[in-house]
Amino acid sequence: MKLSSKNLETRLDTLYDAIVVGGGMGGISAAIYLARYGLKCLIVEKGKGRSFWMQDLRNYVGLDPHTPGRDILKDGTEQAIAWGADHLRGYVEEAIDEGETFAVRVKVGKKDPTGSVFRSKYLIAASGIIDVLPQLDNMQNVYDYAGYTLHVCMICDGFDMWDQKAVLIAGTEGQINAAFVLNWFTPYISVLTHGLCSVSDAMKQKLADHGYPLYEAAIARFLGENHQLSGVELVDGTIVEATTGLVSMGSIYHNQYLKGIQGLEWDGENLITNNMAQTSHPRIFALGDLKQGLNQVSIAVADGTLAATQIWRNIRRASPPRKWEE
Ligand code: FAD
Ligand code: FAD
Ligand code: FAD
Repeated sequence: MKLSSKNLETRLDTLYDAIVVGGGMGGISAAIYLARYGLKCLIVEKGKGRSFWMQDLRNYVGLDPHTPGRDILKDGTEQAIAWGADHLRGYVEEAIDEGETFAVRVKVGKKDPTGSVFRSKYLIAASGIIDVLPQLDNMQNVYDYAGYTLHVCMICDGFDMWDQKAVLIAGTEGQINAAFVLNWFTPYISVLTHGLCSVSDAMKQKLADHGYPLYEAAIARFLGENHQLSGVELVDGTIVEATTGLVSMGSIYHNQYLKGIQGLEWDGENLITNNMAQTSHPRIFALGDLKQGLNQVSIAVADGTLAATQIWRNIRRASPPRKWEE
């Protein structure tokens, strides 16, 4: 059922088998499997996550490569609800481990001061990440290109950059190293730091050896039309020609609500999981971009399948057998 502030009271006494934080690619997959195992689950989705900004899913078997993420979100959410999952638009602020259960505090509507608390036996962390973009006074100018010809994922879109003039936008010296991977797809790379870091002589020499120009002035604006990049204008008036680009500025991890939970093993901001997407906490699973591994839709979807199936196994094995009794 679709829940909202109008009907969520009907679920405040429910003990869900699992609450899925994040209704993106992994979370929806988990909910579809959970619901079809006959388990009670709630997806909480804040909206405008990473897959929402994916303008086309290029590399998923059998899907038209122009399929936008928002279409998959809409159809997948409807599918999960149709099999019996609950879905709530809201923001998970905190998850508390109560021993046998989790208490999950959800803000419903940006002005909700206290939030509502839902309870479950298992928690599926499927809240993903969001890419850091260069900050300009006019963010609309960035959004006109980000996710179209200004990419954030080389695995997803390297193919679409093949032998084009490309800008690589990095915020730290370490992030500049993406140039030496991107050059598999194109060697015509101009590196922009948007004035965010100083670059060592060793890195300058390495870029020069590869023939990749470095521009350290801040970006004034992106040039082009209809989401097609034609270049980048810097604050010093320089125009760098490019028909594509890669933003390599790191990510924000949507994991704050887990920070109070004991016994979770992390690799930096990523959760460590086993081959069933289970974390080091036996009742918490983690999917997709939030966990260690490749950030791809195909992986997140498979993780959702694995997590839901392990939860079903645990619950089924602890349940009495159903006997054919007249
Ligand atoms: P998401 O799909 O991001 O889902 C996480 C969800 O959690 C989000 O919807 C978010 O709103 C929600 N959320 C976060 N915090 C909270 C909270 N506190 N409370 C409630 N909800 C919360 N991958 C490919 O395989 N092929 C591609 O071609 C491709 N192209 C891409 C292009 C772009 C522009 C971008 C940005 C990404 C692309 N990706 C692509 C990567 C792909 O989007 C991710 O790998 C995939 O979505 C990961 O799935 P997920 O379930 O881990 O995260
Ligand atoms: P969030 O982190 O989602 O929310 C901020 C706070 O609001 C949260 O801490 C929470 O307290 C509260 N909150 C959020 N949702 C809810 C809810 N449902 N209920 C209750 N409280 C809530 N952005 C655009 O606007 N336009 C674009 O065209 C655009 N294109 C993008 C392209 C790419 C490739 C990428 C990576 C990002 C793009 N962005 C775009 C995303 C933008 O950078 C933001 O991350 C995104 O819009 C979410 O913003 P937010 O302020 O709601 O942040
Ligand atoms: P396959 O998709 O079977 O691909 C292996 C291919 O290798 C076959 O096409 C075969 O012809 C070929 N091959 C084998 N040997 C050789 C050889 N020596 N030389 C050349 N080619 C060879 N899964 C779901 O997730 N959801 C469902 O609802 C679902 N329903 C199903 C319903 C039915 C009736 C069946 C039979 C399966 C269903 N499955 C479902 C399971 C699903 O089909 C498999 O899990 C999935 O196809 C496995 O993918 P695969 O690539 O490992 O194998």
